[in-house]
Amino acid sequence: MLDLGPDRERMVDRQLARRGVSDSHVLDAMREVPREAFVPEGLQEFAYEDTPLPIEAGQTISQPYIVGLMIEAAEIRPGDRVLEIGAGSGYAAAVISRIADRVYAIERHDELTVLAANRLQRLGYDNVELRTGDGTHGWLEAAPFDAILAAAGGPAIPQVLKDQLDIGGRLVMPVGETQRDQRLIKVTRISATHFEEEDLGGVMFVPLIGEHGWSRDEQEHLRSRRAPEPRSFREPMPEPSISDQIATAAEPLPDIDDPAFGHMMDRFAKARVVLLGEASHGTSEFYRARAAITRRLIEEHGFTIVAAEADWPDAASLDRYVRDRPAPPHAEPAFRRFPTWMWRNTDVEAFIEGLRAWNLDRPTEERAGFYGLDLYNLSASIRAVLDYLDKVDSEAASVARQRYGCLTPWAKEPQVYGRMALTSGFALCEAGVVKMLGELLASKLDYVGRDGETFLDATANARLVKNAEAYYRAMYYGSAQSWNLRDTHMFETLCAILDAKGPRSKAVVWAHNSHIGDASKTEMGLVRGELNIGQLCRERFGKDAALIGFGTHAGTVACADDWDGPVQVKRVNPSRPDSYERLAHDSGIGRFLLDVREGVHEPLRYRLLAPRLERFIGVIYRPDTERWSHYSACSLPQQFDAYIWFDETTAVTPLPTRMREGPEETYPFGL
Ligand code: SAH
Repeated sequence: MLDLGPDRERMVDRQLARRGVSDSHVLDAMREVPREAFVPEGLQEFAYEDTPLPIEAGQTISQPYIVGLMIEAAEIRPGDRVLEIGAGSGYAAAVISRIADRVYAIERHDELTVLAANRLQRLGYDNVELRTGDGTHGWLEAAPFDAILAAAGGPAIPQVLKDQLDIGGRLVMPVGETQRDQRLIKVTRISATHFEEEDLGGVMFVPLIGEHGWSRDEQEHLRSRRAPEPRSFREPMPEPSISDQIATAAEPLPDIDDPAFGHMMDRFAKARVVLLGEASHGTSEFYRARAAITRRLIEEHGFTIVAAEADWPDAASLDRYVRDRPAPPHAEPAFRRFPTWMWRNTDVEAFIEGLRAWNLDRPTEERAGFYGLDLYNLSASIRAVLDYLDKVDSEAASVARQRYGCLTPWAKEPQVYGRMALTSGFALCEAGVVKMLGELLASKLDYVGRDGETFLDATANARLVKNAEAYYRAMYYGSAQSWNLRDTHMFETLCAILDAKGPRSKAVVWAHNSHIGDASKTEMGLVRGELNIGQLCRERFGKDAALIGFGTHAGTVACADDWDGPVQVKRVNPSRPDSYERLAHDSGIGRFLLDVREGVHEPLRYRLLAPRLERFIGVIYRPDTERWSHYSACSLPQQFDAYIWFDETTAVTPLPTRMREGPEETYPFGL
């Protein structure tokens, strides 16, 4: 017998409680009912996965979270009489029966009704009455109900069902023209004739087939059929819309080039680390806005570190340029590998030129530097460590050559090393690269006297080699593990820079929203077990970390179709109706800052808490499969401290990647 008790606990905690289901009746009931008893033979071990599962008669058992969400929305309480339409496996009815007094459940497929009745009987849940039939008529003899739940989606809410609600009763049902645009709707009966309606967000349920639902034929032809006329909801919506509330709370932003733009962020200047996100890797406004804010933080608030989602050795050559430091023997132009436009673009160039000009007027120790947190340029990092040791300790250099020699054959294609390590079951080069970093750090006192800056550079490169070795092996164990290694590496590198610059040092981080927005408040963390640098900064620095997200509705973006593909400019699809982006777009304000910290705009923040879709465009953008490749559910006000909005955005302008060979003055981009 599988013991799934711990899985059940974890399911309730991770999939429900952490996503915001807080009704203790619901959580307790879902801790009690064994979901594995409601899935077909052979699927028990998946019973607590975060997903719907197939059941008999070609139907599905709903995702646990959806069951919890619906029961919570229906506010089911002890003593209630509840109708469920679409009993399916009987699982939701079983959960409801642990709270309510009596449950009436209807299912269209007799096969399912029989199976469900047997399961409930075996568990001794004897307050559920089941029958086979068309649930769109309700269950007149048992009415009125305190709550009605429909586990299948129809074109509209049947009046007969509303009529079977008691005064004060709640009905929760998915409504939509197609499965893709279903919304979960809650109706509350206020009086004999008055009903209030509330939209709880986008969902996906199987179709409700029956007289007041879809006809079977309609269902079959639904895909090819023209959508029917939109339904109008007659009941008034008493509250202002979320978008109206955003319009009130949002602080319109001046032009990015206006010095006042950066001032808007002064409220975060006390933080030790300000993390600035981006909703794509190819949008000019995001780069320019981050540059304007960063300039302000450097010039007025004592920030001296700009740390970017860029490879350390590449960023180091920009850093030498902005701080006017000498180049090492093997330095080469930066950012020549895919995706080149991410850092080789006119906006970054302008920022780098500005930073250099500002630095040149100041003493060396007050200059602000540009650093890379990412771990992909393995071969340049290996070379940088060797160059360093050649200068300071030739004996250590020959040991390092031997150790890194293990990785060198793979350095151009480290994924191949990862696969080899996996198939041979042996991490061939691990011990050497770990020792190398350890010994370098331990020799700090000997080496640092010679030059603290180059020591920081050498150790950062040695850390990159060590973590990249582990990263490429982890790639084959699944995405969460390698993602976590990468973000942990970024965080360690950031901390190493802060430490090297002393206790009063302050940093601005530039990285994608997916790295910056607290992963524990998004599907990434909740469902996939991924963490990120934003979350780690919050854990370490608390309120001294400011997490700023960026978003856009439509426009153009520089991106590729596939990894290593050529850069293209694509149109960004207008944001989906069920996304945070659409709420921001509907505010009607083209450019704004929204402070979403606790207690600032409380009624709005509260309404924004419930998870919604948010768009993530990386270096790859695939507009055709956008919902699945680029949207994921987040709780925006928990993910960020503030959100910066540009309704319409434009692609970055890449710099040429072909460059002339030349002397050092051609840094940083070799143009
Ligand atoms: N609550 C169920 C979910 C089952 S899926 C569970 O926890 O497992 C929805 C079910 O609704 C399907 O089994 C489908 O057969 C049923 N259904 C669809 N239209 C129906 C109707 N008009 N009357 C009753 N059941 C219906």
